[in-house]
Amino acid sequence: MTDSVNDSAPGAASGAVERPFQADVARLLDLVVHSIYSDRDIFLRELISNAADACEKLRFETATGQVAGSGAPFRILIEADKQGRTLSVEDNGVGMSREDLEQALGVIANSGTRAFMEKLEGAGDKGPAESLIGRFGIGFYSSFIVADHVDVYSRRAGQSEGWKWSSDGKSSYSIEASDNCPPVGARVVLHLKSDADAYLDVSSLQRIVGEHSAGIPVPISVREAGGEEQTASEGAALWARPRSEIAAEQYAEFYRTISGQFDEPALTIHWRAEGRHEFDALAFIPGSRPFDLFNPERKGRSRLYVRRVLVSTDADLLPPWLRFVTLVVDSADVPLNVSRELVQKSPVLGAIRKAVVGRVIQELAKLAESDSEKFGAVWTNFGAVLKEGLYEEPERRDALFGFARFTTSTHGAGDRTLKQYVADLRPNQTAIYYLNGVDAAGLAASPHLEGFRARGIEVLLLSDPVDAFWVSSAVGFDGKPFRSVTQGQADISQVPLADGAVAPERPELDAMAATTIAKMKEMLGERVSDVRVSDRLADSPACLVASEVAPDRTLARILASAGRLDASMRPVLEINLGHSLVKALLALDKGDDRADFEEASGLLVDLAQLAEGEAPENGPEVARRLSKWLARGLGNSAGA
Ligand code: ADP
Repeated sequence: MTDSVNDSAPGAASGAVERPFQADVARLLDLVVHSIYSDRDIFLRELISNAADACEKLRFETATGQVAGSGAPFRILIEADKQGRTLSVEDNGVGMSREDLEQALGVIANSGTRAFMEKLEGAGDKGPAESLIGRFGIGFYSSFIVADHVDVYSRRAGQSEGWKWSSDGKSSYSIEASDNCPPVGARVVLHLKSDADAYLDVSSLQRIVGEHSAGIPVPISVREAGGEEQTASEGAALWARPRSEIAAEQYAEFYRTISGQFDEPALTIHWRAEGRHEFDALAFIPGSRPFDLFNPERKGRSRLYVRRVLVSTDADLLPPWLRFVTLVVDSADVPLNVSRELVQKSPVLGAIRKAVVGRVIQELAKLAESDSEKFGAVWTNFGAVLKEGLYEEPERRDALFGFARFTTSTHGAGDRTLKQYVADLRPNQTAIYYLNGVDAAGLAASPHLEGFRARGIEVLLLSDPVDAFWVSSAVGFDGKPFRSVTQGQADISQVPLADGAVAPERPELDAMAATTIAKMKEMLGERVSDVRVSDRLADSPACLVASEVAPDRTLARILASAGRLDASMRPVLEINLGHSLVKALLALDKGDDRADFEEASGLLVDLAQLAEGEAPENGPEVARRLSKWLARGLGNSAGA
């Protein structure tokens, strides 16, 4: 029986030590147990997946001479004990030392978990929480879906002591020395809840293994306590089997096993490369966004095997802009080395990586051609990540441009390609125009688009943060340069008006107005670098644009917030001479009292900022001035 004591003597080797879970874990446990009802079976898949990983880790350590192998074949054994009401999953893999048990099962330290927890708690009601938890690998803790108490008996390969970890999954766990461990490996014993009897039935267990874990490269057998072992899975690695023998559902289950996701893959790519380098590869594009997709680490999910020996579960086989792809590569050509780092540096891997990236892109292009709707879902989930490739890997740019999709000022559905854009260019239109900003809905209403609309010119509306970067570094598409509608002169006067469009009123700029505009520029001082008459406005009084030599306004804002650009990079104020507000403003420039003219000119800049969705620098002051002018205007209309 466990003799729990306080952890006052960390060196005490044999007494059971009781420790609280790290706060995150206690919360996670609670959520796991209370949020998953729909498919309780998945706990078994998670335990089998851990057991298989442990076998593969030991396979690697023996193959590289780090520990002596026993020669016994790797296997996973599932045993149901009806009398004791326990279900155990045992492997002869690498096992866990006392420290491993503490670290692996007592702490979840990664930031992904924390971010996930926050999202979950923010989600509030059950629906979204359940779907969120479904996208997250909950691993070992899923045991508590069916068990109210779990014991783990484990002995690390190469060590003589064995340990028992024990917990009710609520707030704490204990660890003590144990003689009841497998010679090497781990046995996870679940004390089943009263409503989990189904997991004591051998044929049910057979079925669950067949459904969820068939592609695992370690054989799995099942038995009743004291009974005969029955094979539940042969342990043939899925990726090494002929495609014709694999059903879609087997692929999907295998994907869920290795990705920790619970969804259906949107695209499965399985191939064998022959020629200079031989390898088997299996790649999955997920059907939904992994929870850590936008974590700053931008980590991928690639498994590298060398002749069935697992070398790494996060191999560097995909660039960050394909980090959402779940990938398995099994190579016959990479030398198996004692150090995983050295294996990963093998030049063969560089060639494999290139081939894999090429293949994934090629399959995406094919899907875009053959099933636009399905591809559309992939693009909605991962377009923002794929576009990072436009910036980071210029040699892949043309391929990515081939299927990239956009929302534009004339096609709001987000499925417009550059090829379509170029095919519909207006007469005399020489560039591909874009507007970028943070808020997709706000972009469509931007005053910068008015003149383009009047001429029927389509404008790409770019609202992902990465857009500002690739669009400023890409040369163009099909010989047409990309041009920001918020930068420089609009130069669209050569493009004819669209059918039915009325030319905006453009009064002549007389000498008086020119002088007034010059004064305005002087008064606005630091706020703008120039004031000029606009070609691009129709209904709005004014807008701000970047000068020819400065970066696009959105890029400038991003650079300034990252401290990479002088924040005072000043914009140009463009004014619409046909607008009544501007007419009235220019008329204010009379006599000696300049205060009104100055204040109203400042407000025009504030209004232009507001129209871009940007907050003016001094909100309360702007509000005070606006109320003053509004009161004056309303007073005039009431008095009239
Ligand atoms: P994950 O598998 O996603 O890392 P888990 O919670 O399932 O998360 O497991 C945490 C860690 O516990 C594993 O990474 C592994 O180091 C260790 N572990 C779990 N099960 C076993 C096992 N059967 N043998 C050896 N180590 C294990």
